[in-house]
Amino acid sequence: MSFAANLAAIQTRIAAACARCGRDPATVRLLAVSKTVAVPGVAEAVAAGQQLFGENYVQEFVAKAAQLPPTLEWHFIGALQSNKVKYLAGKVALIHSVDRLTLAREIDRQWGKLGLCADILLEVNLGDEGSKAGSGAAEVLALATAVARLPHLRLRGLMALPPFLDDPAAVRPYFRRLRELALELSRALPGIELPELSMGMSHDFEVAIEEGATLIRVGTALFGARPPKPPG
Ligand SMILES: *Cc1c(COP(=O)(O)O)cnc(C)c1O
Repeated sequence: MSFAANLAAIQTRIAAACARCGRDPATVRLLAVSKTVAVPGVAEAVAAGQQLFGENYVQEFVAKAAQLPPTLEWHFIGALQSNKVKYLAGKVALIHSVDRLTLAREIDRQWGKLGLCADILLEVNLGDEGSKAGSGAAEVLALATAVARLPHLRLRGLMALPPFLDDPAAVRPYFRRLRELALELSRALPGIELPELSMGMSHDFEVAIEEGATLIRVGTALFGARPPKPPG
């Protein structure tokens, strides 16, 4: 299947999910997760009308973005080491995967050097799975409070990567919990709104939309099966 055909099918499913829960489809943004997809594959997606992409690996992102139109909007969604933040500064519109204060401070510092403000999401580990990235749900208020004080960061919402469950409906409580957590945080932090909920992937984005997702991160359902992670 071509990217254009996959995109049309996903858009139809987004519209149907929105109709089921009375949401305006314009409130759900589709992030095409292009990790490990080479430049021609991304260019095909651009030709099909896709403008918003998510990347996981810093080097791969920097190399690819340089070869693609400067008008694209890139988000960073992968595990991020503080020493690589400088390569992203000013180049990504949103970082979804902020899970610790040291990382937030480095983003603040690097964007600040450019006189810019970085939009970020806090990644929450809802399953409290030791192996996964993300701040624990119990720690996220402290993290959000500290992040909210950094002058060159704007906290925009939360991201979750819930456990992979074969039955997408089984993930629903995790998505619901993320939405509740965003509400609790915005109540606890005066003047801070958390309008963005980044949740839902190829196999469960419809459930995520029903639970309030504003950004869904879809890779394989758009690009097909992924080649392995690049070295480095
Ligand atoms: C790879 C990835 C996705 C996309 O997953 P698919 O199952 O291919 O849709 C979404 N979010 C994150 C954080 C990812 O690393």
